[in-house]
Amino acid sequence: MKYISTRGGMAPAPFTDILLEGLAPDGGLSIPDAYPVVDARTLAAWRPLGYRDLAYEIFRLFMEDIPAADLRTLVDRTYTAKAFGSEDITPVSTLEPGLHVLHLSNGPTLAFKDVAMQLLGNLFEYVLAKRGETLNILGATSGDTGSAAEYAMRGKRGVRVFMLSPNGKMSPFQTAQMYSLQDANIFNLAVRGVFDDCQDIVKAVSNDLAFKAKYRIGTVNSINWARLMAQVVYYFKAYFATTRSNDEQVSFSVPSGNFGNVCAGHVARMMGLPVRRLVAATNENDVLDEFFRTGSYRVRASADVFQTSSPSMDISKASNFERFVFDLVGRRGDVVADLWKSVDKGGAFDLAGTPHFARIAEFGFVSSRSSHADRLATIRRVREKYGVVVDTHTADGLKAAEAYREPGVPMICLETALPAKFADTIREALGEEAPRPPGFEDLEARPRRFEVVDPDVAVVKAYIERHCAD
Ligand SMILES: *Cc1c(COP(=O)(O)O)cnc(C)c1O
Repeated sequence: MKYISTRGGMAPAPFTDILLEGLAPDGGLSIPDAYPVVDARTLAAWRPLGYRDLAYEIFRLFMEDIPAADLRTLVDRTYTAKAFGSEDITPVSTLEPGLHVLHLSNGPTLAFKDVAMQLLGNLFEYVLAKRGETLNILGATSGDTGSAAEYAMRGKRGVRVFMLSPNGKMSPFQTAQMYSLQDANIFNLAVRGVFDDCQDIVKAVSNDLAFKAKYRIGTVNSINWARLMAQVVYYFKAYFATTRSNDEQVSFSVPSGNFGNVCAGHVARMMGLPVRRLVAATNENDVLDEFFRTGSYRVRASADVFQTSSPSMDISKASNFERFVFDLVGRRGDVVADLWKSVDKGGAFDLAGTPHFARIAEFGFVSSRSSHADRLATIRRVREKYGVVVDTHTADGLKAAEAYREPGVPMICLETALPAKFADTIREALGEEAPRPPGFEDLEARPRRFEVVDPDVAVVKAYIERHCAD
């Protein structure tokens, strides 16, 4: 398998060449030149496998240039009961017959991003060591991504992380989670400003190509292909957990922001997993819901992004969406390049009435939008009916699932975070404290290691120069 760009302008490259890159040279996203096809025999052979064995079988189709024995070691080191709370790694529970929850949030930072990021940490360390290189990861976070990245990269040889966060603007839990890391290769920079200031600094540093090259600046943002690939595994795992035979179909409901998670479901479906529907559940930031309903993809200005109680889905555009559109338009890079000419300028495109949008049903996608009131109502209803407390993002997915359940088709809702991370809204909905998993009781009391800086590109650059990996 080789990787190409969604905009058609990149020479086919092996996996390890695209692993550490952000955008493709033509501004597109890397994607396999063809999806591996999982035939009936293979699907049957995969059904009894445990998480690690299944992950290995799937990954080897996408990472042909990593030797089998090395890949095995990487997988075995990543997906442990110690890191993810159980040998199942991503267990499934049943709320009632036909309605299931896929638990993705038992990793170190209690959100689903750990499933992919923990693999990325080991992959980066492995590939950098092979090449005798080092990498300085620069990122901006409003919560989940930054902490998942730091917990994945902590202590990794050859990697340093410089993570910008808005000083005093994250939830107390998220702040404590990030700033309490004491690892020498993790640098928390608390910026006097808002998340957009952090993101602007990262953009400015990355646009300084000479600085970027000299200090080997990299990212771990949601467009990284390996993150998406890692997420494909749990769609297969959940399918096997909720069906008895490979003739059955299931549907998935996925709380969505940057379209990484549900795009992994799309890839699993393209590989041949019997998926009926993929429900993209959004909050008030409904870019995706609007597209699936109308065919119009309209990027929002950052001033028009709502701050919601499912904050990890507060996006102005869905970064990974371009990968799906590449498939939707028949894998024509020239068509995607054309559509994104306006998107890249903060604009829009409309596929309504085109032969492309006429094919949308073939891909199984449907969508939904939730409000804060919906979230509160769902958290209460799920608590009353099933005795389970869910977080605000998962609540968006559960609300969407209700709208699209069908008799005879199991609906699997992806749990993307634990409620402890979003305690304020749980308190508002239920009048009680969110349950805390063991080991997190004293989180806010732990010593913190972070530096407060002005929202100034020069200050951040100077900091990186002083502290980067050599
Ligand atoms: C990142 C995140 C999402 C959105 O996932 P995408 O892959 O960006 O669509 C949903 N819920 C939680 C808790 C997250 O951290």
